Amino acid sequence: MAEVILENICKTYGNNFHAIDQLNLSVEDGEFLILVGPSGCGKSTALRMIAGLEDVTSGSLRIGGVDVVDMPPKDRDIAMVFQSYALYPHMTVFENIAFSMRLAGKPKAERRKRVDEIAKTLQLTSLLDSKPANLSGGQRQRVAMGRAMVREPAAFLMDEPLSNLDAKLRVQMRAEITSLQKQLGVTTIYVTHDQTEAMTMGDRVAVLKGGVLQQVDTPKRLYESPVNAFVAGFIGSPSMNLFEATLTGDELTSGTFGVHLQDAAFVRRPGLRSYAGRKVVFGIRPEHLYDSSLESGRKYQTIPAKVTSIEELGSEHIVHLNIDAVRVDSGDPDAVEDYGLTSNAVAKFEPDSAVRSGSEIRLALDDSKLHFFDPETHLAI
Ligand code: ATP
Repeated sequence: MAEVILENICKTYGNNFHAIDQLNLSVEDGEFLILVGPSGCGKSTALRMIAGLEDVTSGSLRIGGVDVVDMPPKDRDIAMVFQSYALYPHMTVFENIAFSMRLAGKPKAERRKRVDEIAKTLQLTSLLDSKPANLSGGQRQRVAMGRAMVREPAAFLMDEPLSNLDAKLRVQMRAEITSLQKQLGVTTIYVTHDQTEAMTMGDRVAVLKGGVLQQVDTPKRLYESPVNAFVAGFIGSPSMNLFEATLTGDELTSGTFGVHLQDAAFVRRPGLRSYAGRKVVFGIRPEHLYDSSLESGRKYQTIPAKVTSIEELGSEHIVHLNIDAVRVDSGDPDAVEDYGLTSNAVAKFEPDSAVRSGSEIRLALDDSKLHFFDPETHLAI
């Protein structure tokens, strides 16, 4: 069994900078777990501790049941894939993939057989005699995967392996790595700052912020039930819209913005009633805001909004709007940039929407899709 288990792992740099604080994580045998979070949240540090490239300040770390805290990287039975690929430029693809077998003194015939198998899986057979300089980014990435696979490790550790590829190739390699991981069934821990990568690749996703684990869950649960406003804002693109409002009876008001909540909202969240007469943070995803003049928006309550700009993406329109409600920051530095200065809400409209920049519209809102958070703790209600 090759589970990877982190218990109360801490990493302190200098006297008191906590890059990782009390991290508890159990990665199951064969699982594909993604570590995701904004720049500087500690995800590479966590991965490097698992690899043994960084000392653990305190806590326990087991790979396949073995305590590895004091074990050098080469004895940990893991293989790491970096964003730089770390290929040897003077060696052919064959030699690069076979390198660790040669070091281990494996006979030539065995090397040939294993590398041929791997090359077939990775569609590199015709490139075995090429040098890395003559390969495309995606092919180099596959060779780096081959070098990791040849060692038949208990776990793969990958640190932003796709970040050097262009957008189209990244999407393709995302799918390739995911299906390869399923085929090989090797426990994999994969670091990325890209929430789309995290959501499309992982069996489960662990979201880190400031060295602290926020939530570890399936992509679906992260999206539908974020535990706090940070996860709500970080997962999903464009980010969830978050506003501060006052709850009076069944009415949610913020500025001149008002929404009537159905009973179901309170049944689903028994704690919400206790916010009556107080402030509450509520969130709504861009895909749950509609153009009220289209069929899809007709059954919902509407609020006035002014369109500030539109990004026409073909399959959908990303519409930036002003509504008279108090916007709240989720605490994700990347999410704030998404909004620019002129809009305080973002909606995803169907491409047949005819709204124009500058127009005043009625924005329809699916109130069954609202999320609620405590205004102080930012924890989900
Ligand atoms: P990025 O996506 O930007 O690579 P990350 O989430 O992987 O970020 P880490 O590289 O793990 O972040 O760094 C976490 C924090 O620890 C950062 O604030 C970083 O500045 C700090 N840090 C990392 N290495 C060291 C070091 N050797 N000495 C001091 N501080 C460090």
